[in-house]
Amino acid sequence: MMSQRSEDLLSSFFVRCSDVGLDCGHIIFGINEDNVMKNAISHMCEYHAIDPKEMTTCMKLKIWENIHLYRDYLHSEILRQLSDVSEWLLPVI
Ligand SMILES: [Zn+2]
Repeated sequence: MMSQRSEDLLSSFFVRCSDVGLDCGHIIFGINEDNVMKNAISHMCEYHAIDPKEMTTCMKLKIWENIHLYRDYLHSEILRQLSDVSEWLLPVI
């Protein structure tokens, strides 16, 4: 039985800071895409001293393009690592 907490995580969205072009291992989560965007902007400000007012449209677009659904990411990671993963396992994760 999956807890409410992991259900929330699976239906959340994320962006990797490195996908935006920064040398950083942070993964920024949010309950939806707008929330990830907001969290990413505050992360950029806090960890990379990028002023939200000075953030370029190009950078915002790059964040936006790299936001993914966490459930989809887990599926692709599992398929990548276990090429013979059983079909029946997929609905579980
Ligand atoms: Zn970062």
